[in-house]
Amino acid sequence: MNPQIMFQNVAEVFGRLEETSANTEMVGILGDFFSDLTPEQGRKVAYLLRGEVTPDYEGPEFGLASKLVIRSLAFGKNRSQEEIEQMFNEHGDLGTVARMLAENKEQGELTLDDVFSELTEIAFAEGEGSQERKISLLSDLVSRATPQEAKYIVRVVLGTLRLGVGDMTFLQGLSTALTGDKKHKKILEHGFNVLPDIGAITEQAMREGVESLANEEPVSGVPVRVMLAGRLKEIGRVFEHIDNPVHVEYKYDGERVQAHLLPDGGVKLFSRRHEDITSQFPDLVTDLKDSFHGDQAIVEGEIVAIDPETGDLQPFQKLMQRRRKYNIEEYIDKIPVKAFLFDMLAFNGESFLQKPLRYRKTVLEERFPENKGVKPAKYITTHDLGEVESFFAEAADWGAEGVIVKDVESPYQAGSRGYNWLKFKRDYRTELGDTFDVVVIGAIYGTGRRTGTYGSLLVATYDPNEEKYYSLTKVGAGFTDEGLGNLPERLNADKIDQKPGNVVTKMKPDVWFYPNQVIEIEGAELTVSPTHTSAQELLDEEGGLALRFPRFLRWREDKRADQATTPQEVYNLYR
Ligand code: AMP
Repeated sequence: MNPQIMFQNVAEVFGRLEETSANTEMVGILGDFFSDLTPEQGRKVAYLLRGEVTPDYEGPEFGLASKLVIRSLAFGKNRSQEEIEQMFNEHGDLGTVARMLAENKEQGELTLDDVFSELTEIAFAEGEGSQERKISLLSDLVSRATPQEAKYIVRVVLGTLRLGVGDMTFLQGLSTALTGDKKHKKILEHGFNVLPDIGAITEQAMREGVESLANEEPVSGVPVRVMLAGRLKEIGRVFEHIDNPVHVEYKYDGERVQAHLLPDGGVKLFSRRHEDITSQFPDLVTDLKDSFHGDQAIVEGEIVAIDPETGDLQPFQKLMQRRRKYNIEEYIDKIPVKAFLFDMLAFNGESFLQKPLRYRKTVLEERFPENKGVKPAKYITTHDLGEVESFFAEAADWGAEGVIVKDVESPYQAGSRGYNWLKFKRDYRTELGDTFDVVVIGAIYGTGRRTGTYGSLLVATYDPNEEKYYSLTKVGAGFTDEGLGNLPERLNADKIDQKPGNVVTKMKPDVWFYPNQVIEIEGAELTVSPTHTSAQELLDEEGGLALRFPRFLRWREDKRADQATTPQEVYNLYR
């Protein structure tokens, strides 16, 4: 093991990963590379592979837009900005430009530690003069880099690294490096679900062994990956999936929140994507603190917008107006919110993940009595199908999105979508009875009224096992004129010049996007198609599933691409 590793070696590994789209090959490359790293080096490379220097919930973003990178390159390379801009226009990627501008050196001079610490400084630079500081740090880095190093450094700061290495592929590689077999990924994955800090997990596994992650417990202030619900096609089939009594609970149409009540009396709120959303909801922070009896807790609920006049619950879109950096105080009165709490993951330092749901609920209700902004999610406990059905009808009448049925004996399965929680939605809008959250992977140019923007979007499901995106349909209906006009602005940061390795489709759109943004769509029917690929492995026929007559419903900023509808879910609906 080498106490000092050159960044050139890391950049070479990135190059090899970028060239392949085969997961097994990626696992092999990562397995070899990580077996020669120290735990500290492993931590750094693990972050860099995701284009980060800290876990995402800590949030510093590099904050370097193309313009600043152009200035850094001009500065570091003694070129004019116009020259760099012209090269950028020609090649469409500043990483490529940086590579072309770098001197060809035999030997790199940057170590992994150099690059990591300078990138960290760039990420954390704040306040007055920070922009200039970022530019000078970056120009210094690229002026010392080899062509390949410069390309990846620039892509990291721009947020366009896109090596196509999913978290599960990475964990298989790490498992291979540490045990010679990728099968111990399961244990690493468990650790990562509870403590989704890829660097910390990697370092711990390398220092203390893979097994040490088997009993990972939630850490106060670090978001646990949320448990998700499977889909129930017919409410009458609940007890085919669950033997035990169930909680049937209102499904609220808002934003999921994981609230951490910290030992020092502070509160942190995390979204389902692990963004720190505390500053958007000062009202809720106060209400949570007022309600809570205890030292420390992690609880989950759904934040819903309330009509200030009538007190009625408002749809998700209204709540999204609270997602803002400025005028937060003004919006507290305009769009008040309530959090409907439904689960407890830890209490006074003790992990509740393995405790049965009924126990977690009891403690939750004891410790978080209702007040202005804090409410318990409404539910009944039953083992009787008739009662499940009538509670669903009541929920639908009241205006809930549907119900979530939960096995009272089940543990909290961080990061997984299983059958211990089942959602059933009151969605009369579609024949299929449910909507799909799909990832935008391409677009087709518009014609006629749509000239100058996109006429339709190519969208995909996400398979978390393969870590690949499979096309499902092309959606052009359902957009407003304004929404259509904004598509290029909204999507073009994700534009890439060829199909990425993690996308599987036979479609050839005019423009490809790196899978990043999620939209919710509905459709009339699922059919087998020769060009779409969703669930193709599960079908007996040639081809994959396609959604016919799709309509756009809304952007799902609260979902990451890897939280999209899966091919398996689409297949279950088809069946
Ligand atoms: P979906 O986004 O359709 O996959 O539905 C899952 C989401 O429903 C969760 O992530 C929560 O944000 C939301 N939700 C609303 N009410 C509940 C509830 N009572 N229990 C669990 N999740 C809920």
